[in-house]
Amino acid sequence: LLPIHVIGGGLAGSEAAWQIASAGVPVVLHEMRPVRKTEAHQTEGLAEMVCSNSFRSDDAEYNAVGLLHEEMRRCDSLILRCADAHKVPAGGALAVDRDAFSAAVSDTIARHPLVTLVREEVAGLPPEDWDSVIVATGPLTSPALAEAVRELTGEESLAFFDAIAPIVYTESIDLSKAWFQSRYDKPGPGGTGKDYINCAMDRDQYTAFIQALIDAPKTDFKEWEKNTPYFEGCLPIEVMASRGIDTLRYGPMKPVGLTNPHTGGRSHAIVQLRQDNALGTLYNLVGFQTKMKYADQTRVFRMIPGLENAEFARLGGMHRNTFLNSPKLLDREMRLKAMPRLRFAGQVTGVEGYVESAAIGLLTGRFAAAERMGQPSFSPPPTTALGALLNHITGGAEAETFQPMNVNFGLFPDLEGKIKGRDRKLAYTRRALADLDGWLGRQSQAA
Ligand code: FAD
Repeated sequence: LLPIHVIGGGLAGSEAAWQIASAGVPVVLHEMRPVRKTEAHQTEGLAEMVCSNSFRSDDAEYNAVGLLHEEMRRCDSLILRCADAHKVPAGGALAVDRDAFSAAVSDTIARHPLVTLVREEVAGLPPEDWDSVIVATGPLTSPALAEAVRELTGEESLAFFDAIAPIVYTESIDLSKAWFQSRYDKPGPGGTGKDYINCAMDRDQYTAFIQALIDAPKTDFKEWEKNTPYFEGCLPIEVMASRGIDTLRYGPMKPVGLTNPHTGGRSHAIVQLRQDNALGTLYNLVGFQTKMKYADQTRVFRMIPGLENAEFARLGGMHRNTFLNSPKLLDREMRLKAMPRLRFAGQVTGVEGYVESAAIGLLTGRFAAAERMGQPSFSPPPTTALGALLNHITGGAEAETFQPMNVNFGLFPDLEGKIKGRDRKLAYTRRALADLDGWLGRQSQAA
């Protein structure tokens, strides 16, 4: 069999390569790092997580991304397997030691006899003798390839900002003021109910903090970043602060479900820090992506009670995201209508997040492998999280207003009957897993 070429060894490309090789088809994975770097990646590891170390909720009964985790596990996802093997305590979330996770993905890929890993940039349209290609080059697709795709599709790629939250050395946090507790004491997988570090503020401290966020000097946008809209799910902390005095208290700084043991009372607002590595030596400020200048970040974040002497392992930042108008440009199996030998996968297709990117990599890898083996391929039912996401980006979303999307129950077809509240979520997830198992059964019969 001729190999399938996968461009980009991120979350999506690594998963796609694994699915293709697992189906018995050879694959060449082209990753440009370390030969050429991006604005956000710091290592040469495959599946590097550039910001948060969390794959978000792992609750497969009541949460759509938790359901997506479970579906991916049932599809033998490499990303989920390595995440499960290297998780760190994080309440109800699946968070990982990012270096150990990336090393596990890299090792598994490198050892697979059907995978060839080539460290090179594909700096334009792939050569014509690559008859089956998956482009999984992510939000920071190198300019040469992005320009070639733009010329081919005649579409302007849209852009928005994604963000990096600051990371603090745990030993520099003052635990005579801060304390360990998960919201509502909820223990996540492997967790204790004390997975987050919390820093409380009273009303005066909060008011001064909000003003400091608003007043702090910000980094200028680069020329190409100007006039691009923010993605609502990942706003800079100072933009949220400028929307109203209480916006943060109802967002990342909400005080509910947490009790300050030092005072025994409720707090006006709370900053949460989540464990960032297996050793527990680093914690990140949850939701604190920012465009503030570095010196000002240090000054403003040290206003947080418990962080007066904080040392930062990494400060926050913001970056551009590149993505296609997929509903218009891609067919149901992620092929570019204008050049069907090219498929796309990952964030560049307009899904948002590590898990969603890997999920689309998983599906696209399976589609390409089935095509190469001359087997029929079926899309997952739209009642599954995988199918709902695929359906959204390849047709469910309006092309004119297309924006990146996280998986959520709003993408699922309606349930029969009137089911409300939590029961409704449970009904969605039960139906999804039953339908997923049926789909997997049909796939293996066809193979
Ligand atoms: P990536 O993981 O970026 O992989 C793409 C790969 O392609 C890279 O390794 C790159 O080096 C390579 N590449 C690019 N161009 C070429 C080329 N021409 N030839 C060869 N190789 C190439 N999501 C979250 O869920 N949580 C977060 O906290 C989060 N934070 C983010 C912060 C930033 C700064 C950015 C940019 C994105 C963030 N995202 C986050 C969004 C997104 O989920 C991740 O970017 C995710 O890594 C996307 O997976 P991917 O495989 O599509 O792309």
